[in-house]
Order: sequence, then structure tokens, then C-alpha cells
Amino acid sequence: GSTIGILGGGQLGRMLGQAAAQLGYRVHIYAPDRESVAADVAAHHTRAAWDDDPRLAAFAAACDVVTFEFENVPVDTVRFLSGHVAVRPGAAALEIAQDRLAEKRFVVGLGGRPAPFAAVPDRPALDTALGEVGAPAILKTVRMGYDGKGQARLATAADADAAWDAIDRHAAVLEGFVTFTHEFSAILVRGIDGEVRFWDSPVNVHANGILASSSLPPPREVLGQQEEARGLMARIAAELDYVGVLTGEFFATADGPVFNEMAPRVHNSGHWTIEGAVTSQFENHIRAVAGLPLGSTATTALPVTMRNLIGAEIATVPALLADDAAHVHHYGKAAVRDGRKLGHVTWVGFGVGNTPA
Ligand code: ATP
Ligand code: MG
Ligand code: MG
Repeated sequence: GSTIGILGGGQLGRMLGQAAAQLGYRVHIYAPDRESVAADVAAHHTRAAWDDDPRLAAFAAACDVVTFEFENVPVDTVRFLSGHVAVRPGAAALEIAQDRLAEKRFVVGLGGRPAPFAAVPDRPALDTALGEVGAPAILKTVRMGYDGKGQARLATAADADAAWDAIDRHAAVLEGFVTFTHEFSAILVRGIDGEVRFWDSPVNVHANGILASSSLPPPREVLGQQEEARGLMARIAAELDYVGVLTGEFFATADGPVFNEMAPRVHNSGHWTIEGAVTSQFENHIRAVAGLPLGSTATTALPVTMRNLIGAEIATVPALLADDAAHVHHYGKAAVRDGRKLGHVTWVGFGVGNTPA
């Protein structure tokens, strides 16, 4: 059989691996981390550094196609691998998504509307940026941020020093604070032949910068903005000649959809598709990168609610297992830490806590 290589060892890799296995593929994980919950479900695991060229070359030789589940894989690693094996999506998407400034500029160039923003390479630039963007605002590191890490909020310009220290004085971007009714995502899969399919857009609720839940159907305010958001994501995917699942996070506002950020990979707000759509984001990502026909993205039943199990919430798994309607996912991570995504639970066709009749 064929082997799919996955860069990164987290829960997204684990769920991609499970989908790949369903389609008859072997999975080879490449991740430097000691703990890899993706390697737990894979046939092979190379645990080596991102710049270990001999090990990367051996990994490439063992795989028919390589993809990634982690957007901070160094671009040089993907470029190196691309000389040996097909990597989908490619380095271009990764490079843009790793840099918040490059990403916003790229999206503006395609007609997208992010929040007002200004580059903050150093402390003096923050004052200039505050003059342009105003307050309240959010200061975000250009690189490596996730789950709200590397961000500081400024209520007024007087918070500039504290915010700059809070992000450890890394190069950043200042964003105007967006007044939104909802947050939602537009999740697409693009096949090797350029065919694009979208799943229905979930509404996403964040707590402390971390996704808490995603649910469907979206309210009317979001439905009215879904088409514009989808159009932008389709243009982004076409421009990058993207293959696989691509996610855009948006704010629904009185002036239409405001682009927040994109992820060149399967996304937490798409976990509901495992039980709530004909074909999950994980299966369609595998289909796309393997060059297979895409599966239907139709929602199978409403309502849908996906709730993350973060930190100590993983202790509720026994109670959730007693709920006849709950689809429980435990990622098998050894260490329970505050703010760490350890599992999720999905209800499809039943309200949360309502067991089937
Ligand atoms: P992810 O884990 O999704 O990659 P991240 O660390 O990249 O997260 P963002 O998506 O930039 O973080 O921000 C996290 C959350 O903070 C957003 O989903 C939203 O709730 C809030 N937020 C971010 N930027 C803004 C903004 N400009 N205006 C209002 N709220 C914002
Ligand atoms: Mg992000
Ligand atoms: Mg985000």
C-alpha cells in the first residue's frame, strides 16, 4: 500500500492518521517531540529535528506523499522535502501563514478585509501604529502565535509598554479591536484538479484566546456573510495552487466578514465534520493530498455542537461517555496542563446533553 507522511505529531496528525488508515494508507509521522499522539496511531515514527537532512531524506524516500498538521514546520524543511517527494499543500501556503503580516498583505491583495493593522518591528513603531490603528487594539507576534499565545490587548495607548513587554518584545502586528456579532470559519478542501468544496460554516466561541466550541447551524448574520468569506478563501486557495484543507477564521460584523487569520491545514473548528458531515475534514484532506476524488462535505444532521476538552476538563470524559449522544475524542496526551487541548466531544442531531429518544 501507499504511505502518507505527516509532519507534526499532535492531535491533528492523529486524526489525519486515523482517516488515512480508513482509506488503506500507512502513516509515517515525522516530529521532533518526545510525545507524539499522532505517532501512537501510525506505522512509523521518525523522531528527529526539522533540520536533520539525512533523516528527512530517508522519510521522504519512505513516503508517497507528505503533508503537515502543524503550521510552524520550518519552510526550509518543506522546501528540502519537496526536492524528494510531493508535499501538499506546498511551501508557499506555509510561508504566508507563518507570518501574520505577510498573510494580511496577501489577503488584502486578493480583496479580503482584515482588521486595520500596522507593522510593529520595534517599540517606537508601536506608538506610530497606535496612531494609525487607534485603541482598543491587539498586539500579536508576527510569528509562532497560537491559542491566543503571543498576544496582548491594549485598552488605551497607555498600555503600550505593558503590551510590548507581554509579547517579549518580538516583532509584531497591531490590529484594531473588531466589534463582532459572531466568529465563524470557512473551511474548504481543494483537490489536485482544483475542485473546491466547502463545509457549512460553524460559529466559533473562544475563551481566553482558545477555541471553546463550534456549532451549527450558524445564525442569519453569519449565513449572510458566508458567501463573501468563501469567495475569498477560494481565491486564496487558487492563488496558492493549494491542495488539501484550508481554513479561514472570520469575524461577522455589521460591515460584513472581517478576515482574522488562516490555517493551511485541518482546523479545530472542523472537528465536528467527523460525525456531522458525510466526509470529515481529515478524510477529505487525505483524499486531496493523495489525489483521490473528494467526498461530499454535506452536513448530515443539525444541530451540531463540538466542545473542546481543555486542561482539567478532560476529567469529564467518564460523565460524557454516559451521554448516549456524545461522540467523545480523547487525544491520549500524557500531560494535563492548563490551556492544553486534550480532547473534544461532538453532538450531532441532538442538543447538548439531550440523549436520543
Ligand atoms: P489560533 O489558535 O486560532 O491560531 P491565534 O493565537 O492565532 O489562535 P487569533 O486567532 O489571532 O489567535 O486570536 C484568538 C482570538 O482572539 C480570536 O479568535 C478572537 O476571539 C480574539 N481576537 C483576535 N484578534 C481580534 C481582533 N482584532 N478583534 C477582536 N477580537 C480578536
Ligand atoms: Mg492562529
Ligand atoms: Mg485563530
